[in-house]
Amino acid sequence: MSVAFHGAKYCWMNGEVIETEKALVSAMESIHLGIFEGIKAYAENDVLGEGRLNIFQWKPHIDRLWRSAAVCGLKIPYTKDELLEATKKTVKANGFKTNVYIQPRVWPKAAVPGEVYFVIPVWPFETLLGKNNPRFSRKRRSMISSWRRVASDALPPQAKAWANYANSGLAAREAARLGYDGAIFLDNRGFVSEGTGACLMTVRDGTVITPPVTASILESVTRNTFLKFLPEDLNIPVEVRDITRVELYASDEAFLCGTGGEVTPITSVDDIALGEEYPGPLTKRIAEYYAEVLASKVKKRREWLTPV
Ligand code: PMP
Repeated sequence: MSVAFHGAKYCWMNGEVIETEKALVSAMESIHLGIFEGIKAYAENDVLGEGRLNIFQWKPHIDRLWRSAAVCGLKIPYTKDELLEATKKTVKANGFKTNVYIQPRVWPKAAVPGEVYFVIPVWPFETLLGKNNPRFSRKRRSMISSWRRVASDALPPQAKAWANYANSGLAAREAARLGYDGAIFLDNRGFVSEGTGACLMTVRDGTVITPPVTASILESVTRNTFLKFLPEDLNIPVEVRDITRVELYASDEAFLCGTGGEVTPITSVDDIALGEEYPGPLTKRIAEYYAEVLASKVKKRREWLTPV
Protein backbone atom coordinates (compact mmCIF):
# COMPACT_ATOMS: atom_id res chain seq x y z
CA MET A 1 0.00 0.00 0.00
CA SER A 2 1.26 3.46 -0.82
CA VAL A 3 1.55 5.91 2.02
CA ALA A 4 2.71 8.87 -0.10
CA PHE A 5 1.80 11.97 1.85
CA HIS A 6 -0.39 14.57 0.14
CA GLY A 7 1.53 14.04 -3.07
CA ALA A 8 4.98 14.96 -1.71
CA LYS A 9 7.47 12.41 -2.97
CA TYR A 10 10.20 13.09 -0.42
CA CYS A 11 10.37 13.75 3.28
CA TRP A 12 13.23 13.87 5.78
CA MET A 13 13.56 11.21 8.43
CA ASN A 14 16.23 10.89 11.11
CA GLY A 15 19.04 12.43 9.12
CA GLU A 16 18.22 11.88 5.47
CA VAL A 17 15.85 12.77 2.69
CA ILE A 18 13.93 9.63 1.77
CA GLU A 19 10.87 8.70 -0.25
CA THR A 20 7.80 9.43 1.83
CA GLU A 21 6.43 5.96 1.26
CA LYS A 22 9.55 4.54 2.92
CA ALA A 23 9.10 6.67 6.05
CA LEU A 24 7.67 3.84 8.10
CA VAL A 25 7.40 3.25 11.82
CA SER A 26 6.42 0.04 13.57
CA ALA A 27 2.76 -0.36 14.44
CA MET A 28 4.01 -1.30 17.91
CA GLU A 29 5.13 2.27 18.62
CA SER A 30 3.30 4.36 21.18
CA ILE A 31 2.62 7.86 19.96
CA HIS A 32 0.81 9.59 22.80
CA LEU A 33 3.77 11.81 23.72
CA GLY A 34 4.45 13.03 20.22
CA ILE A 35 4.85 16.69 19.33
CA PHE A 36 4.96 18.61 16.06
CA GLU A 37 5.19 21.99 14.38
CA GLY A 38 3.22 23.54 11.54
CA ILE A 39 5.28 25.93 9.43
CA LYS A 40 4.70 27.48 6.02
CA ALA A 41 6.90 28.70 3.19
CA TYR A 42 5.38 31.18 0.74
CA ALA A 43 6.24 32.14 -2.81
CA GLU A 44 7.95 35.51 -3.06
CA ASN A 45 6.06 38.45 -4.60
CA ASP A 46 2.63 36.81 -4.85
CA VAL A 47 1.16 34.31 -2.40
CA LEU A 48 -0.99 32.95 -5.25
CA GLY A 49 1.93 32.60 -7.62
CA GLU A 50 5.13 30.62 -8.12
CA GLY A 51 8.67 31.52 -7.26
CA ARG A 52 11.38 31.47 -4.66
CA LEU A 53 10.03 30.20 -1.34
CA ASN A 54 10.60 31.81 2.04
CA ILE A 55 9.88 30.10 5.36
CA PHE A 56 7.80 32.32 7.64
CA GLN A 57 8.92 32.74 11.26
CA TRP A 58 11.30 29.78 11.30
CA LYS A 59 12.86 30.76 14.63
CA PRO A 60 9.71 31.07 16.75
CA HIS A 61 8.39 27.83 15.27
CA ILE A 62 11.55 25.85 15.95
CA ASP A 63 11.88 27.41 19.40
CA ARG A 64 8.32 26.30 20.18
CA LEU A 65 9.21 22.77 19.05
CA TRP A 66 12.01 22.82 21.63
CA ARG A 67 9.60 24.00 24.33
CA SER A 68 7.05 21.34 23.37
CA ALA A 69 9.83 18.73 23.57
CA ALA A 70 10.84 19.93 27.03
CA VAL A 71 7.26 19.67 28.29
CA CYS A 72 6.86 16.14 26.90
CA GLY A 73 10.30 14.99 28.05
CA LEU A 74 11.72 14.47 24.56
CA LYS A 75 15.28 15.18 23.57
CA ILE A 76 15.80 16.32 19.99
CA PRO A 77 19.15 14.97 18.73
CA TYR A 78 19.65 17.66 16.06
CA THR A 79 20.54 21.32 16.21
CA LYS A 80 18.04 23.94 15.04
CA ASP A 81 20.40 24.77 12.16
CA GLU A 82 20.57 21.13 11.10
CA LEU A 83 16.78 21.04 11.00
CA LEU A 84 16.63 24.21 8.93
CA GLU A 85 19.01 22.62 6.42
CA ALA A 86 16.96 19.42 6.48
CA THR A 87 13.79 21.40 5.79
CA LYS A 88 15.35 23.28 2.88
CA LYS A 89 16.70 20.05 1.41
CA THR A 90 13.31 18.37 1.63
CA VAL A 91 11.42 21.23 -0.01
CA LYS A 92 14.05 21.38 -2.77
CA ALA A 93 14.06 17.61 -3.28
CA ASN A 94 10.33 17.82 -4.05
CA GLY A 95 10.92 20.68 -6.47
CA PHE A 96 8.13 22.80 -5.01
CA LYS A 97 7.74 26.31 -6.45
CA THR A 98 4.39 27.16 -4.83
CA ASN A 99 3.47 27.53 -1.14
CA VAL A 100 4.37 24.57 1.04
CA TYR A 101 3.38 23.43 4.49
CA ILE A 102 6.16 21.91 6.60
CA GLN A 103 5.24 19.71 9.55
CA PRO A 104 8.19 18.47 11.66
CA ARG A 105 6.97 15.56 13.81
CA VAL A 106 8.76 14.04 16.78
CA TRP A 107 7.81 11.11 18.94
CA PRO A 108 9.63 8.81 21.34
CA LYS A 109 10.87 5.38 20.31
CA ALA A 110 9.08 3.13 22.78
CA ALA A 111 11.75 0.45 22.52
CA VAL A 112 14.75 2.77 22.86
CA PRO A 113 14.32 5.14 25.81
CA GLY A 114 15.69 8.62 25.06
CA GLU A 115 15.58 8.22 21.30
CA VAL A 116 13.05 9.82 18.98
CA TYR A 117 11.71 9.53 15.49
CA PHE A 118 12.03 12.86 13.71
CA VAL A 119 10.23 13.25 10.42
CA ILE A 120 9.73 16.32 8.25
CA PRO A 121 6.90 15.88 5.77
CA VAL A 122 6.14 18.77 3.41
CA TRP A 123 3.22 19.30 1.05
CA PRO A 124 1.71 22.07 -1.07
CA PHE A 125 -1.36 23.90 0.23
CA GLU A 126 -3.89 26.34 -1.15
CA THR A 127 -3.83 29.70 0.54
CA LEU A 128 -6.91 31.68 1.59
CA LEU A 129 -4.93 34.88 1.08
CA GLY A 130 -4.06 36.95 -1.97
CA LYS A 131 -5.98 39.39 -4.14
CA ASN A 132 -9.56 38.36 -5.03
CA ASN A 133 -9.13 34.86 -3.61
CA PRO A 134 -12.71 33.49 -3.41
CA ARG A 135 -11.69 31.02 -0.68
CA PHE A 136 -11.22 33.91 1.74
CA SER A 137 -14.80 35.17 1.75
CA ARG A 138 -16.50 31.81 1.86
CA LYS A 139 -19.20 31.75 4.56
CA ARG A 140 -18.09 30.04 7.78
CA ARG A 141 -20.63 29.19 10.45
CA SER A 142 -18.98 28.42 13.74
CA MET A 143 -20.33 27.09 17.02
CA ILE A 144 -19.22 27.12 20.62
CA SER A 145 -18.09 23.56 21.25
CA SER A 146 -19.63 21.54 24.05
CA TRP A 147 -16.06 20.31 24.61
CA ARG A 148 -13.89 22.65 26.70
CA ARG A 149 -10.33 23.36 25.54
CA VAL A 150 -7.83 21.12 27.39
CA ALA A 151 -6.86 22.72 30.68
CA SER A 152 -3.20 23.14 31.58
CA ASP A 153 -3.57 20.95 34.66
CA ALA A 154 -4.55 18.03 32.42
CA LEU A 155 -2.60 18.43 29.16
CA PRO A 156 -0.20 21.15 27.97
CA PRO A 157 -2.28 23.50 25.78
CA GLN A 158 0.70 25.79 25.15
CA ALA A 159 2.72 22.92 23.69
CA LYS A 160 2.05 21.55 20.23
CA ALA A 161 1.44 18.04 21.49
CA TRP A 162 -0.52 15.58 19.36
CA ALA A 163 -2.52 14.54 22.42
CA ASN A 164 -4.18 17.99 22.47
CA TYR A 165 -5.54 17.35 19.01
CA ALA A 166 -7.86 14.63 20.27
CA ASN A 167 -9.63 17.55 21.98
CA SER A 168 -9.64 19.51 18.69
CA GLY A 169 -10.78 16.47 16.73
CA LEU A 170 -13.77 15.89 19.00
CA ALA A 171 -14.84 19.53 18.74
CA ALA A 172 -14.39 19.57 14.94
CA ARG A 173 -16.39 16.36 14.56
CA GLU A 174 -19.17 17.67 16.75
CA ALA A 175 -19.33 20.84 14.64
CA ALA A 176 -19.42 18.87 11.39
CA ARG A 177 -22.10 16.54 12.74
CA LEU A 178 -24.27 19.53 13.63
CA GLY A 179 -23.74 21.16 10.25
CA TYR A 180 -21.25 23.88 11.24
CA ASP A 181 -17.98 24.71 9.53
CA GLY A 182 -15.96 24.99 12.71
CA ALA A 183 -15.86 25.13 16.49
CA ILE A 184 -14.63 27.58 19.08
CA PHE A 185 -13.57 26.34 22.50
CA LEU A 186 -14.29 27.94 25.83
CA ASP A 187 -11.60 27.30 28.45
CA ASN A 188 -12.28 25.51 31.72
CA ARG A 189 -13.27 28.84 33.33
CA GLY A 190 -15.88 29.50 30.67
CA PHE A 191 -13.99 32.24 28.78
CA VAL A 192 -13.37 32.12 25.06
CA SER A 193 -10.20 30.16 24.29
CA GLU A 194 -9.48 29.46 20.59
CA GLY A 195 -10.47 27.43 17.55
CA THR A 196 -9.61 23.77 16.98
CA GLY A 197 -6.44 24.65 15.08
CA ALA A 198 -6.08 28.41 15.26
CA CYS A 199 -6.29 31.34 17.65
CA LEU A 200 -9.25 33.68 17.75
CA MET A 201 -9.30 37.44 17.34
CA THR A 202 -12.40 39.60 17.64
CA VAL A 203 -12.92 43.21 16.60
CA ARG A 204 -14.85 45.72 18.65
CA ASP A 205 -14.98 49.43 17.82
CA GLY A 206 -11.77 49.19 15.79
CA THR A 207 -9.78 47.33 18.45
CA VAL A 208 -8.59 43.76 17.92
CA ILE A 209 -9.08 41.66 21.05
CA THR A 210 -7.62 38.19 21.64
CA PRO A 211 -7.57 35.87 24.68
CA PRO A 212 -4.42 35.59 26.81
CA VAL A 213 -2.11 32.56 26.90
CA THR A 214 -3.72 31.66 30.26
CA ALA A 215 -7.01 30.97 28.43
CA SER A 216 -5.52 27.55 27.48
CA ILE A 217 -4.47 28.62 23.97
CA LEU A 218 -1.52 27.37 22.00
CA GLU A 219 1.19 30.02 22.01
CA SER A 220 0.55 30.87 18.42
CA VAL A 221 3.30 32.26 16.23
CA THR A 222 0.71 33.96 14.01
CA ARG A 223 -1.05 35.55 16.99
CA ASN A 224 2.28 36.91 18.25
CA THR A 225 3.09 38.17 14.76
CA PHE A 226 -0.28 39.96 14.53
CA LEU A 227 0.08 41.44 18.02
CA LYS A 228 3.28 43.02 16.75
CA PHE A 229 2.31 44.28 13.31
CA LEU A 230 -1.26 45.38 14.02
CA PRO A 231 -0.27 48.33 16.24
CA GLU A 232 3.17 48.95 14.70
CA ASP A 233 2.42 48.74 10.99
CA LEU A 234 -1.35 49.20 10.66
CA ASN A 235 -2.06 51.44 13.63
CA ILE A 236 -4.74 49.04 14.86
CA PRO A 237 -4.99 48.90 18.67
CA VAL A 238 -4.85 45.43 20.26
CA GLU A 239 -5.99 44.10 23.62
CA VAL A 240 -4.99 40.77 25.11
CA ARG A 241 -7.66 39.90 27.64
CA ASP A 242 -10.35 37.39 28.49
CA ILE A 243 -13.36 37.46 26.17
CA THR A 244 -16.77 36.26 27.31
CA ARG A 245 -19.05 34.20 25.10
CA VAL A 246 -21.50 37.11 25.06
CA GLU A 247 -18.81 39.52 23.86
CA LEU A 248 -17.95 37.14 21.05
CA TYR A 249 -21.60 37.01 19.92
CA ALA A 250 -21.69 40.82 20.00
CA SER A 251 -18.39 41.42 18.22
CA ASP A 252 -18.18 43.50 15.02
CA GLU A 253 -15.91 40.92 13.38
CA ALA A 254 -14.08 37.74 14.33
CA PHE A 255 -11.45 35.70 12.59
CA LEU A 256 -9.18 32.77 13.29
CA CYS A 257 -5.45 33.21 12.88
CA GLY A 258 -2.84 30.52 12.56
CA THR A 259 -0.23 29.09 10.26
CA GLY A 260 -2.76 26.74 8.69
CA GLY A 261 -5.82 28.98 8.76
CA GLU A 262 -3.86 32.17 7.99
CA VAL A 263 -6.72 34.69 8.42
CA THR A 264 -10.04 32.84 8.40
CA PRO A 265 -13.10 35.10 8.72
CA ILE A 266 -16.03 33.81 10.79
CA THR A 267 -19.56 34.60 9.58
CA SER A 268 -21.53 33.62 12.67
CA VAL A 269 -21.21 31.93 16.04
CA ASP A 270 -24.09 29.71 17.14
CA ASP A 271 -26.00 31.21 14.20
CA ILE A 272 -25.65 34.74 15.54
CA ALA A 273 -24.28 36.81 12.65
CA LEU A 274 -21.23 38.89 13.58
CA GLY A 275 -21.24 42.55 12.57
CA GLU A 276 -22.77 44.11 9.50
CA GLU A 277 -20.34 43.19 6.77
CA TYR A 278 -18.71 39.88 5.89
CA PRO A 279 -15.77 39.54 5.76
CA GLY A 280 -15.36 42.52 8.06
CA PRO A 281 -13.29 45.52 6.91
CA LEU A 282 -10.53 45.08 9.50
CA THR A 283 -10.33 41.34 8.85
CA LYS A 284 -9.84 42.10 5.14
CA ARG A 285 -7.22 44.75 5.79
CA ILE A 286 -5.26 42.49 8.13
CA ALA A 287 -5.40 39.58 5.65
CA GLU A 288 -4.20 41.79 2.80
CA TYR A 289 -1.28 43.10 4.81
CA TYR A 290 -0.37 39.63 6.09
CA ALA A 291 -0.26 38.40 2.46
CA GLU A 292 2.18 41.21 1.63
CA VAL A 293 4.38 40.31 4.59
CA LEU A 294 4.38 36.63 3.57
CA ALA A 295 5.23 37.50 -0.03
CA SER A 296 8.26 39.46 1.18
CA LYS A 297 6.84 42.78 0.02
CA VAL A 298 7.16 44.52 3.39
CA LYS A 299 10.81 45.44 3.73
CA LYS A 300 10.86 45.95 7.50
CA ARG A 301 9.32 42.49 8.02
CA ARG A 302 11.69 40.53 5.79
CA GLU A 303 13.54 39.45 8.92
CA TRP A 304 10.58 37.11 9.54
CA LEU A 305 11.37 35.22 6.33
CA THR A 306 14.10 32.66 5.71
CA PRO A 307 14.83 31.74 2.08
CA VAL A 308 14.56 28.02 1.33
N1 PMP B 1 -4.16 26.88 18.24
C1 PMP B 1 -4.10 25.60 17.83
C2 PMP B 1 -4.83 24.57 18.62
C3 PMP B 1 -3.37 25.26 16.69
O1 PMP B 1 -3.30 24.00 16.28
C4 PMP B 1 -2.71 26.27 15.97
C5 PMP B 1 -1.94 25.93 14.73
N2 PMP B 1 -0.62 25.61 15.02
C6 PMP B 1 -2.80 27.59 16.43
C7 PMP B 1 -3.53 27.86 17.57
C8 PMP B 1 -2.09 28.69 15.73
O2 PMP B 1 -0.72 28.60 15.98
P1 PMP B 1 0.35 29.13 14.94
O3 PMP B 1 -0.01 30.54 14.67
O4 PMP B 1 1.64 29.00 15.63
O5 PMP B 1 0.23 28.28 13.75
